[in-house]
Amino acid sequence: MCAIVGIYGNENAARLASLALFSMQHRGQEATGISSSCNGKIFTKKDRGLVSEVFTEDALRYLKGNMAIGHNRYSTAGGDSILDAQPVFAKYKLGEISIVHNGNLINKKEVREDLIDKGAIFQTGMDTENLIHLIAKNTQDKLRDRIKEALERTIGAYCFIVQSRNKQFVIRDRYGIRPLSLGKLKSGGFIVSSETCAFDLVDAEFVRDVKPGEMLIFTENCEEPESIQLFEAEHRPCAFEYVYFARPDSVIDGKNVYLTRENMGRTLAKKDSDSSIKYDMVVPVPDSGVPAALGYASQSGIPFEYGIIRNHYVGRTFIEPTQEMRNMKVRMKLSPMRSLIKGKSLLVIDDSIVRGTTSKRIVKMLKDAGAKEVHFRVASPEIKFPCYYGIDTPHKEELISNNMTKDEVCEYIEADSLEYLSIEDLTSSIGSDRDYALESFNGDYFVTK
Ligand code: AMP
Repeated sequence: MCAIVGIYGNENAARLASLALFSMQHRGQEATGISSSCNGKIFTKKDRGLVSEVFTEDALRYLKGNMAIGHNRYSTAGGDSILDAQPVFAKYKLGEISIVHNGNLINKKEVREDLIDKGAIFQTGMDTENLIHLIAKNTQDKLRDRIKEALERTIGAYCFIVQSRNKQFVIRDRYGIRPLSLGKLKSGGFIVSSETCAFDLVDAEFVRDVKPGEMLIFTENCEEPESIQLFEAEHRPCAFEYVYFARPDSVIDGKNVYLTRENMGRTLAKKDSDSSIKYDMVVPVPDSGVPAALGYASQSGIPFEYGIIRNHYVGRTFIEPTQEMRNMKVRMKLSPMRSLIKGKSLLVIDDSIVRGTTSKRIVKMLKDAGAKEVHFRVASPEIKFPCYYGIDTPHKEELISNNMTKDEVCEYIEADSLEYLSIEDLTSSIGSDRDYALESFNGDYFVTK
């Protein structure tokens, strides 16, 4: 997952990058980092922790220059040591470079082994380091050509920003799986960011999405970035960004995330419209189920109620490494509204079921608090396959829908009924005008080049 940002041509580059990263904290909370560039030298500050903890006034003062790139880390490849935080910095024949990456390279193992065979030394477990080596070993005179040739050996879902001492190169893979947008800062210069929610905070105007297969090059005093179509585009944005990952106020490839989630909820309600069960209220699992629950409520006419209250000082439950810690975290994070739900039949909506930990715990919590019935609705299809394109879903064996049928999951989570969106329901809720990356739901691992 992760978030990346590039700021070019603004004297407050590092500060603006840190604000953008702050607005994209939901995309990764493990580590954060920024590299700025000033007078031919790159300055980097990265550490484990949240953006607000790492980027103190001192850190921002150190990050001089009118260009900066930044990253929030959510580990999908590599470990959790500080070495695995980004940006990745290196000195090579053409000078200093720093790289940030969002995505996952599926041929990273072969490329790394080949590089190691040829004598390369790796410092981290990150696939991003492959790109540095491929760039450094290349013999082209221009960095843009080195990046292009390095990417020809790179297969996967990726967005990269490469910063040299005076330029920035932005690349989105040919399928445009992970989001990346370009904006113009009102205070001067440009921003490229994983999500458009960053634009409001830094006062930038949305210009357009970076195109699948496109490289943007920012050079000193440029009026517009230069655009090169590196690879033929076959656009298939990730459906899970709309389901869960992105912030609701972001617009990804022309579609507002909140509205797509509301549509998912409406679609669930339409599917339930001939059910004989009478629900007293629609209850979202906060925060991820809220827009879908609002959509369900407005479509069905059943009142929307906050039957579950979320403690906002607890991070996302998924990020915890062990099952025991995940169980505990759900309890710390969510509490039932006893007086509201006692004796009531609830229609509870969450965005997804992955391992089943959260849904099982929620049903139990609501029933213990006196709910008469808990009917669970999921605003996505059953997740049966791991994602290799940058979303941190677990191994196949841990995915509950890989091991159980819908009825078995319903029994396992002890709900009174359980329904999901079908894959067609999902794509029509987002917008049927294009194909999406849906591999978690249908196992279609289409990235081959
Ligand atoms: P689980 O408890 O394993 O079934 O996970 C489902 C819960 O985790 C839901 O409440 C989702 O909102 C959330 N979730 C789904 N996918 C992810 C992900 N890739 N990273 C973090 N949280 C997720």
